[in-house]
Amino acid sequence: MTQLPQEIIRWKRDGGELSAEQIESFIEGLTTGRVSEGQAAAFAMAIFFRHMSVPERVALTRAMVHSGDVLTWDLPGPVLDKHSTGGVGDTVSLALAPAVAACGGFVPMISGRGLGHTGGTLDKLDAIPGYISQPDIDTFRRVTREVGCAIIGQTADLAPADKRLYAIRDVTGTVESIDLITASILSKKLAAGLDGLVMDVKFGSGAFMSSAGEARKLAESLVLVANAAGLPTSALLTNMDEPLASHAGNAVEVAYAADYLSGRHRDERFHRLTVELGAEMLVLGKLAATRDEARTSVETAIESGRAADIFQRMVAALGGPHDLLDRPHHYLSRAPIVRAVHPERAGTVQAIGTRDAGVAVIALGGGRTRPEDAIDHAVGLTDLAGIGEQVDGERPLGFVHAQTEDDADAAARALLAAYTIGEGPASRDDIVLERIAPSA
Ligand code: URA
Repeated sequence: MTQLPQEIIRWKRDGGELSAEQIESFIEGLTTGRVSEGQAAAFAMAIFFRHMSVPERVALTRAMVHSGDVLTWDLPGPVLDKHSTGGVGDTVSLALAPAVAACGGFVPMISGRGLGHTGGTLDKLDAIPGYISQPDIDTFRRVTREVGCAIIGQTADLAPADKRLYAIRDVTGTVESIDLITASILSKKLAAGLDGLVMDVKFGSGAFMSSAGEARKLAESLVLVANAAGLPTSALLTNMDEPLASHAGNAVEVAYAADYLSGRHRDERFHRLTVELGAEMLVLGKLAATRDEARTSVETAIESGRAADIFQRMVAALGGPHDLLDRPHHYLSRAPIVRAVHPERAGTVQAIGTRDAGVAVIALGGGRTRPEDAIDHAVGLTDLAGIGEQVDGERPLGFVHAQTEDDADAAARALLAAYTIGEGPASRDDIVLERIAPSA
């Protein structure tokens, strides 16, 4: 079989199954530049329409892993990570990584920037003054070893083929392919040298995949391919019909995580998801025999303040303030205008257009419209009412943090439009819909 890029594309275009050699050859060409941008786009589009079998997805993932460096670790505990498909108010990573580290895991978490209407952990970390979110690899390794976790931004050295292909997919209508998303996410995780991974696959009004059925397909693909490629992985299907934390933005989400870890404020949904994801990680890393035992360990790590202590040490080790956890508002920037947004009439929150809330944060300046845009870390939304909550002249839908009155007006309008308020009671769905086990 020929290895010419155009012949590989034709083979897939006509519905053929690609061999591992063909996939490796194409990805090698993508990394070296032998494969043109047009060819990569055509390859992605052919996969989009013709799909890939599990062996093809495994081969694509492996080829992208080996397009760059693969980290190896020699640590006295398992190397574990969590990856979320993206949501609004999803600041779980900041709490979860130190909680798992407090239970004996090592969490070298490589996080991304905001994508679409969702926030990115990397942007949130950049709201911490002095925090070096893109350290050199030696610092990353040292902090992971000494503190137990290090949350940093993507490095150019891990899975560079994915970096190139992702940028091409982004502008050629080929992002929404389960095969390509699977290989893209997992190549970066396999390159990080993990022993276990939990995927938080979101569905609902604030997720990229609004239907649980589509999210399940993605979760099953991720679990199947990751395990076939040698990375023990499970997934949780989680509800994104409302913002996960009651805050959405950058500095405001760091403040939320600091309040959560130090025990000043704990929302039940956010806590439950943190504990469930942590429990998955401990079981995958063989740090607990059962999920019940693992849940207890994660809860104790959070309640005892050990997770808080590790978070504080990680922030300091990466250049941030030594007392961020105790005095988050002293360090995190704050917007000059903070405005409560009350509903037009009193009632119960029936539904939230969560995507629209995320878009409102971007419009305030808390996200990007172009990749090169700078972010305003101070702006965002806080104290957002959840589904089933009573809102009225006293309890607002939430607070808008803005730089100008005009921005605050626009965000208030967006928030009013995003919330559906009704007369009767409304119940929340459980945050975790389903678990996809490694053997699935
Ligand atoms: N995140 C990734 O890293 N890759 C995708 O393809 C989609 C989301």
